[in-house]
Amino acid sequence: MTRKINILSPDLANKIAAGEVVQRPASVVKELVENSIDAGATKISVIVKDAGKALIQVIDNGEGMSEEDAAMAFRRHATSKIHSVADLEQICSLGFRGEALASIAAVSQVEMKTRQASDDVGTLLRIEGDEIKERSKTACEQGTSIVVKNIFFNTPARRNFLKTRQTELKNITDVVVRYAIAYPAIEWKYVSDDEVLLDLKKKQLEDRILDLFGKKQFESLIEMKEELEILSISGFLGKPDFARKGRAEQYVFLNGRFIFSKLVNHAAFQAYEHLLQTGSYPFFILFLTIDPKKIDVNVHPSKQEVKFENESNVYQVVLSAVRRALATHDIIPSVTLQEGTATQSFDDTLRLSPQAWNANQFQSATAPIFTIPKEDRNSVQRGAGGTIIGIEEDQSQNTLFPRKHGEYSAQSLTASINQRLLAHTETEEQEGRAIWQIHNKYIISQIKSGIMIVDQHVAHERILYERVLNNFQNSLPATQQLLFPETIELHPSDYSLVKELQQYLEQVGFALKLFGKNTVVLEGIPADVRIGNERKILQDVLDEYKVNEHGGLLDIRDNLAKSFACKAAIKAGDKLTTSEMIILIDQLFATKMPFVCPHGRPIIIKIPLEELDKRFGRT
Ligand code: ADP
Ligand code: MG
Repeated sequence: MTRKINILSPDLANKIAAGEVVQRPASVVKELVENSIDAGATKISVIVKDAGKALIQVIDNGEGMSEEDAAMAFRRHATSKIHSVADLEQICSLGFRGEALASIAAVSQVEMKTRQASDDVGTLLRIEGDEIKERSKTACEQGTSIVVKNIFFNTPARRNFLKTRQTELKNITDVVVRYAIAYPAIEWKYVSDDEVLLDLKKKQLEDRILDLFGKKQFESLIEMKEELEILSISGFLGKPDFARKGRAEQYVFLNGRFIFSKLVNHAAFQAYEHLLQTGSYPFFILFLTIDPKKIDVNVHPSKQEVKFENESNVYQVVLSAVRRALATHDIIPSVTLQEGTATQSFDDTLRLSPQAWNANQFQSATAPIFTIPKEDRNSVQRGAGGTIIGIEEDQSQNTLFPRKHGEYSAQSLTASINQRLLAHTETEEQEGRAIWQIHNKYIISQIKSGIMIVDQHVAHERILYERVLNNFQNSLPATQQLLFPETIELHPSDYSLVKELQQYLEQVGFALKLFGKNTVVLEGIPADVRIGNERKILQDVLDEYKVNEHGGLLDIRDNLAKSFACKAAIKAGDKLTTSEMIILIDQLFATKMPFVCPHGRPIIIKIPLEELDKRFGRT
């Protein structure tokens, strides 16, 4: 028998290993840039020709290398960054595997010039497919310049796999942008085919982001920062109405390294739940700092994947930190009255107080509403400003709608409407309040910074949705018993759905008995159901539930909460009295997320006073 097993030649072995590190020009850029950052550079230039296929050059002003180190650097497993297994367990540099330069040299023609500050002359090395072709002294600046030409010249199959020029260039740009975000203290220059694409001066992080993404985008960002025991997290979150169609603009950095982490991305995405319409994704930039001992970055040769020691903790922390940041900021879209130019403003008129976040806000004796500045309090009677229920002062003085404690908040909107309908009377309108209903559909109210417009249906939907979710947690449904129980005959499939959902329906507030033969006896309905709607509500909720289910909504409780909220909420066309509008707004601001309905539609929009002033030529 002849032998079948051979040891691969070093040349072949290197080419195979290179494939994991160097997949495309962008991977070369990434590895070289990481080396420059590790070398302490404060200036890095990236120059590419033909999207990196012809040439990639990275020049830095970092610490440089001695002649011996320069020759050594291209050997496989040659690194100055770790020495022992213990070092591997606490990586503080971007590189550590000692294979990038070797891998790059295996598949291209490389020329390196490098000089340390302590040396008078530098070193020039020319390497081609692993072989040192030239080694000489040269005059050069302190730092390192590496030119990589004709990538994959000796592995044609790989070269043929490269995508279009445009795609490869975009990949390179992504790499440069990611590191430019992560290292604002470094000056970056990025040139493609002699065109300067980026020229970034040393900046603070905010200004770097402004430079990279522009003013409009920057102004739509919410800044966040939290220091926690297991990690600290800071960054910028895009407001929901600046959501993207893809996930490309989600930047997660861990200890200064750009990473792809399903875990972190999902946690952040989850925090935007219900704020975004299906198919859109939030923009965010998150910096996580964790004790390097508690992570493993040696998962993949590209070092962009990470394992966390405690995954579920990390998930929870990211989720709640992002949620908190979103909830404590004004994410209400504010309109400028020009087509297609919605802008965001950072004014804090409607910013929820942080305490509001954790409070259970339904029976809103402590619910946060929008704040009214001291100087505006005198004008309260005229209705300027907003209410805040949670502050420790004489509340009747602080509210947009002065009231006795608990006067409205304990009562649900539905109860109020039901009372009015039963009594066949209009509740007496409270004169002089800065709140109006228009077209029986929208509520307009004066706020400190201008006017706000609320869509009454989605507002009520949000209130009911959260109330039902709360019922699921605390199982405290409010049921109104029906004087005459309704016997309802259902379609067999609906009957089995009721059977399946019975426990949850009861938590929502339905009291029902299954009678067999597709018959259900409805003895009570949730307190939030409006008079006249009793017979239909169960069927409506079931129908909506099925629609959502087909739409891919799989969580039973969430679906039921959404379906009920949608069907039980007041509709466009329902006339409201002033006090009902007040209850609605109060309860809306007592919810966790008053700005967006459970399906992602906006609930409130603002028109800033400046916008009106501008329109009327008052500026
Ligand atoms: P790693 O970065 O994992 O250590 P590399 O193959 O990327 O491995 O680089 C090998 C070594 O070459 C590095 O450990 C570092 O000592 C040296 N080196 C590479 N690039 C530079 C640079 N731009 N400036 C200074 N030293 C460098
Ligand atoms: Mg490296």
